[in-house]
Amino acid sequence: MYEECGIFGIYPKDLKTNIAQLSYLGLLALQHRGQESAGIAVGSRKNILIYRDLGLVAEVFKKDILSTLNGDIAIGHVRYSPKDSNSWENSQPILQQFAGGSFALAFNGNVINKSELSSVLARCGKNFNGSLTDSRLICRLIEATKEKDLEKAVQKAVKQIKGAFCLVILSEDKLIGLRDAHGFHPLVLGKIKDGYVLASEDSAFSIIEAQYIREVQPGEMVIIEKNDFKTKQVFPSTRKSLCIFEYVYFARPDSNVFGENVAEIRERIGARLAIEQPANADIVISVPDSGRFAALGYAHQAGITYQEGLMKNPYISRTFIQPDQALREYSVKIKLSAITSIVAGKRIVMVDDSIVRGTTSRKLVKLLKRSGAKEVHVRISSPPVNFPCQYGTNTPDREELWTNRFSIEKLRQWIEADSLSYISLEGLTGVFQKNKPADFCTACFCGRYPL
Ligand code: SF4
Repeated sequence: MYEECGIFGIYPKDLKTNIAQLSYLGLLALQHRGQESAGIAVGSRKNILIYRDLGLVAEVFKKDILSTLNGDIAIGHVRYSPKDSNSWENSQPILQQFAGGSFALAFNGNVINKSELSSVLARCGKNFNGSLTDSRLICRLIEATKEKDLEKAVQKAVKQIKGAFCLVILSEDKLIGLRDAHGFHPLVLGKIKDGYVLASEDSAFSIIEAQYIREVQPGEMVIIEKNDFKTKQVFPSTRKSLCIFEYVYFARPDSNVFGENVAEIRERIGARLAIEQPANADIVISVPDSGRFAALGYAHQAGITYQEGLMKNPYISRTFIQPDQALREYSVKIKLSAITSIVAGKRIVMVDDSIVRGTTSRKLVKLLKRSGAKEVHVRISSPPVNFPCQYGTNTPDREELWTNRFSIEKLRQWIEADSLSYISLEGLTGVFQKNKPADFCTACFCGRYPL
């Protein structure tokens, strides 16, 4: 079961603002990472309270609910749900008892040795009610250690896990953040009024006026207590496998992921794409929103005017995040419209971040041509997605991936574009300044899985 999610944690000191309200704001800034459920847990010396439900953050948390969630520490979660698993039971955070009391956990990623671990737990007499999500599995592993000390219990539990994961955990007096040994997904640490914040992306910091400190390192556990934080290297340092798709698609442009700004990286990818895959065109347009910065980079590099040729309805969710095929088809149709006065009579370069099933590209090319575009040249700011992700991103099965089944020329014909081309893998991994090509996971493009 794949979960690509957003996680958040906060332990401030003497803040007057309700902690659940700050978590709510943090989750709003992470909404792009998951839209099916949202939840907040708050901890105090007395107890841990959790509220979670299906829906967007603003739908789940009404004002009266937030004011009842009082505590000193909080964690939050937004969840993308894989096919057929969008149920309340699978929303997070999750409450769990252990030898030392109770804790709440929120998780992002994918455990790849789940069946092995659940068999081990079953042999210890642990049975699961409902579907076994990765988050539930980790909770039970922590419980099964029988350790009274939460830090020790978490360390013992996560050492059994193979996969890609970031966690935030709260107890009645502690906030813990942890990133897997290879650092597939991002987790950052910030400071707020003598306290600390953790989040999948630092876009969640600016909204609550927290300052970015640094990334939680791969394999590092951060433990935040009343006045300070300490860190432990839980896993020995190993080869990094940073998810390059965070830059291509997932992360917000204003976030700094793995030490580099997402918008700047997307512009550099677009510029590289223009060098590798030029086109004779009058204007460059983007598929909003994740194609925008790559399109800007392409236009600057190619010396072609950038224009907004497609208008996005901001109230429709991102298609890639929609869990159901019927909904996905529907949302593509209502999400984007062409601005006829801009596109009519023009030769257009349309820059998009990726082609997964090809249905969106086909509809957009048709839309632009119906609106009078003379030519549409599709340029993709990532290489063809040929392989499914095993590390927490919900890509379709291999058979559903267009470029895995057909040639690029066949796909071009199907989407009815005048030309179609992609950035090379070397081009994509070569645009970074702080990370080397070998630091990235690129398995969905090349099939070389780091684990
Ligand atoms: S396979 Fe692709 S989406 Fe999955 S972690 Fe690797 S780069 Fe990211």
